[in-house]
Amino acid sequence: MKEEKSKDMVKEYVVKGDVCHPGTVQVTDGMTIRQVIEAAGGMLHGKAFKAVQIGGPSGTLLCADQLDLPLDVKALAPFGMRRGDGVVTVLDEDRCIVDAVRRFMEQTQTDFCGKCVSCREGTRRLVELLNALMTGILNDAGFNILFEIGEMVSVTGFCALGKGVYDTLKNAYQFFPEEFEAHRHGHCELCAAHRHLPIEPGNIPYDRRRIVIDPTLCRGCSRCARSCHAEAITGVIKSPFTIDQNKCVKCFTCMELCAFGAIREEEIDG
Ligand code: SF4
Ligand code: SF4
Ligand code: SF4
Repeated sequence: MKEEKSKDMVKEYVVKGDVCHPGTVQVTDGMTIRQVIEAAGGMLHGKAFKAVQIGGPSGTLLCADQLDLPLDVKALAPFGMRRGDGVVTVLDEDRCIVDAVRRFMEQTQTDFCGKCVSCREGTRRLVELLNALMTGILNDAGFNILFEIGEMVSVTGFCALGKGVYDTLKNAYQFFPEEFEAHRHGHCELCAAHRHLPIEPGNIPYDRRRIVIDPTLCRGCSRCARSCHAEAITGVIKSPFTIDQNKCVKCFTCMELCAFGAIREEEIDG
């Protein structure tokens, strides 16, 4: 019984990026981000840690100041971590933060459902603006619009994915303003050095976890289906509803709404 309890407190994260041994790390209660990176073999080639993205494009970017915080939603929610963020992308000192932000933003174009106009059009515009910033052709007005649109999407997005999309950009600018300035002036030394293959935001967390409805608990009230902008939930009133995994974008909205605790997250291979 005791063993079962301690097992519950372990959560699997995929750690990738600039670490010696990318892969799955069993994260126990209270384990800090620094300890998680050490469990993945530490920084690759002895490089200095620069930043870490917790989650996908709607996760959050953290810097060395947060390395000793526990890797859990409770501790990191104030920075933008959201429930379901299961991947940790570690960036070393040679990575350009603007490039990292741009790549995560690009990932929204395949990961998000696109049902809200603000999120769909907003993220598309954010990608365009970040591409312009990368190539040094974004003027002052465009730079301001970048942050205005980010904030607009975070306020008007229907689900947690849209609401979280601004955190990476906002935090990156707060922690590394000089790198944004370098791109505004058309020359980033880190990009010019070409020291790395590009990071791959990828869809690992989306593939590894899924949201499911427990048919024994579902009362068939349809609340979840009505709240799902991805139109992933179907069913007949008073019978168990189901989630189409090909449509679900893991926004967790349904899970938070179900009054009967019938919706849960599960590991696909766990
Ligand atoms: S439902 Fe969520 S992911 Fe889909 S477009 Fe709206 S905010 Fe974006
Ligand atoms: S909200 Fe909960 S109880 Fe209602 S249909 Fe969805 S899973 Fe079933
Ligand atoms: S099924 Fe739930 S988690 Fe998946 S997209 Fe719909 S509301 Fe979001």
